[in-house]
Amino acid sequence: MTVIITIHGGAGEIGANKILVEDKGHEIKFFLDFGKSFETMREFYDFPVAPRSLAELIQVGATPDIPHLYHHPDNPQQQSSDIDAVLLSHAHTDHSGYIPLLNRSIPIYMGECTQRIFEARLQGARSFFDTDIEGLQIQTFKTGDRVKIGSVEVQPVHVDHSIPAAYGFIIHCSEASIVYTGDFRRHGTRPDLTQDLIDAVQDGGEPDLVLCEGTNIARAEITNEQEVQEKATTIIGECKNLAIADFSETDFDRFRSIQTAAQTNNRKLVIEPRRMWILHAINQCRELKTPNIAKDLEIHWFDASKKRLSKYERLLQEADPPLLEFSNRGISATDLHEHPEQYVFCSSFGSISAIQRIKPPESGIYLLSSSEPFNEESEINFDKLLNWLALSGLTMYSAHCSGHIHPIQLYQTLEEMRPKCVLPIHTEAPQLFRKFIQASGIRVQVPKPGVPLKIDS
Ligand SMILES: [Zn+2]
Ligand SMILES: [Zn+2]
Repeated sequence: MTVIITIHGGAGEIGANKILVEDKGHEIKFFLDFGKSFETMREFYDFPVAPRSLAELIQVGATPDIPHLYHHPDNPQQQSSDIDAVLLSHAHTDHSGYIPLLNRSIPIYMGECTQRIFEARLQGARSFFDTDIEGLQIQTFKTGDRVKIGSVEVQPVHVDHSIPAAYGFIIHCSEASIVYTGDFRRHGTRPDLTQDLIDAVQDGGEPDLVLCEGTNIARAEITNEQEVQEKATTIIGECKNLAIADFSETDFDRFRSIQTAAQTNNRKLVIEPRRMWILHAINQCRELKTPNIAKDLEIHWFDASKKRLSKYERLLQEADPPLLEFSNRGISATDLHEHPEQYVFCSSFGSISAIQRIKPPESGIYLLSSSEPFNEESEINFDKLLNWLALSGLTMYSAHCSGHIHPIQLYQTLEEMRPKCVLPIHTEAPQLFRKFIQASGIRVQVPKPGVPLKIDS
């Protein structure tokens, strides 16, 4: 009896992870992550051309064609799926983005805080076939729990990544033990979390297989969050005009770095309602002990002064206590123009609409503090962003520290885990991954998209 792995997303590409594990011994089938493919989006779409239906996403190959796997809201008599579960490693869109498409009969397992981030982001999104989460059966876990999918036992263990509540999994199948790293790193602010996964793997003995991310295998930059904070502090201090900082809405480490850089320079952070709603959701995860954004009088929200409130503004207003009326902390585009030197405006995804709204005064800076052009939440249209900055008289600086493990540390991690075999995923260079790791004596098998691989213990 064997275990069969089919990579329906994440083989030879960064993200889009959709990994089907079939345990023939226990007769259990489950997916590891169910993420959005930015590569397929790039191939077939460009704003305003966007996917129009589930059938179209299947047609372009963004998600696999498997009977009864998906949710059909117009068919209440819909048959249940034979997929027993989906395990979500973390809330980045390239891992979680297509979960709303799934048949409501499938239980979705995710970390407690992952659920808060996942839901917060979609609550304010425009209603469409790929954002509807009504009826999803979400079950949560935390490190130390054991998730049972029939007779398959899964041990989730936290790892450090550029989003709170990221997990790796140790999976005990009938005749094979599998480790899924999710996205992880050892150079971030919490290397101890990743160490916990490595220790747990070692405690369980040599795994048969590690499904390992390799985002940075071809190229890495040696930086850390402290350096990002120092660079941001220096450049914001030297700028005499408006500073715009572009960073992921879900990266709390980066939020703290930019917040410290602003405070050191006596500037106030201005954040958009959507970011405030997501930060508020992260604040609700008590074990993370994040500072309360809603109570921080130094943080202001951007008041776009539109006639109608946005969905996120409404959510903030309807929260208990209402988060927008907490104090007079709304800052308008006019305020930013009158005292640009007093603020750091937080943007994300190279948002051109933010630039259109605030029409930033000339001589300011745009601090790009997310990876470019690939981002795990969205695609940055880098050329168009540069055109808008040039038009606005703004210059770009960058300071970033990757959410993904460096090649040497990846080698070291695999040596510590000592698996019988590794499948490189979440990388554009799986052959380089294989050659780079080869000297360790660990067998690396490069997976092909959609081709089943037999795993024998
Ligand atoms: Zn990812
Ligand atoms: Zn990620």
